Amino acid sequence: AGAVLVADWLSDRPSETPRERKSPPAKATEDIRNGLEECIGNTPLIRIKCLSEATGCEILGKAEFLEPGGSVKDRVAMKLIETAEAEGLLTPHSGDKVYEGTVGSTGVSLAILCRARGYLAHICMPNDQSAEKSDLLTKLGAEVERVPPAPIVDRAQFVNKARARSEEHTKSPIIPGSGFFADQFENEANWKAHYEGTGPEIFDQCGGKLDCFVAGAGTGGTISGVARYLKPHLPKLKIVLADPQGSGLYNRIRYGVMFDVREREGTRRRQQVDTIIEGIGINRVTANFEAGRPLIDDAIRVGDEEAMAMARFLVEREGLFVGSSSAVNCVAAVRTALQMGPGHRVVTILCDSGTRHLSKFWAKAGNVGGGWKMTLEEVLSA
Ligand code: PMP
Repeated sequence: AGAVLVADWLSDRPSETPRERKSPPAKATEDIRNGLEECIGNTPLIRIKCLSEATGCEILGKAEFLEPGGSVKDRVAMKLIETAEAEGLLTPHSGDKVYEGTVGSTGVSLAILCRARGYLAHICMPNDQSAEKSDLLTKLGAEVERVPPAPIVDRAQFVNKARARSEEHTKSPIIPGSGFFADQFENEANWKAHYEGTGPEIFDQCGGKLDCFVAGAGTGGTISGVARYLKPHLPKLKIVLADPQGSGLYNRIRYGVMFDVREREGTRRRQQVDTIIEGIGINRVTANFEAGRPLIDDAIRVGDEEAMAMARFLVEREGLFVGSSSAVNCVAAVRTALQMGPGHRVVTILCDSGTRHLSKFWAKAGNVGGGWKMTLEEVLSA
């Protein structure tokens, strides 16, 4: 009697006996990913309801925070490695080492993919970055080298250091394998990852219908790759750069110069850009940004305060917990939607999750309150 009761409880229909119950027919083809690498890409496109309702436009976010390595950089790390393998610069399980200068997500994506392919990752980063970043990379089995913060012209700068380390490795008669410098800023495999993946996915997910694409630029790979794929298909598509405060790219797009002397943008700072936003904003034009720069129609500058307000708004209204660059993208997407007027479709990137930004961006953004709710106008006037 006990067995029958359990069977009744498991069945939606208590009157059905286990013998009568049939398994639903299985699909003809299996759906199994062959390891981590096959889980990269094909992320959902989410209608961000609170932003769409408030603007009268459809604002869609590509959910890159759902990638296995937690960010949009998985696609890039995979493409950098695959291209190097195709060119004979890396051989799986050979003791080869991948060197990269990064302060963020690229290091995590490289660290996990190096493990998946049988390489070691050596990541150079400035020593003023939060300890949790280097801890995470160490946990993933990457070698982490922390160097003093320095401008790009300095040989000790983290990207230059990674390049030098890869050269030392390759020349050394003692260290096994070769040293490959991934070089996400200048290596054009980066924008090609988005040209082959992110761009076509967005086009298909939208059924070929979109009016605007908005994204920030760190290396520039995302905006260039997506723009280069979409623009030939959709000549009227507007491409908008979302740029955090302190970055030089806004002026480059709007006025054709990197620095506006009136704003002291070009003054030498220890920090590269003066913002709490991580991953986007830069004061030089990289090969990956240049690859798509002529296709960018406009730029919107986003302040830290409005980005923090947007991040809280997205949680408050929809439980969408995003990182700092995604929040900047959403502010710029909303401003673009308001400029274009109701009825348009604007697509942006949700680059990573808020969990990567707890100690910096979200520490400053504060907790999301229980009762009182912000309006979008309040977000934009923060
Ligand atoms: N958001 C985050 C969190 C990032 O790490 C990056 C990459 N630096 C970006 C956005 C910008 O992407 P891209 O390098 O393709 O311009």
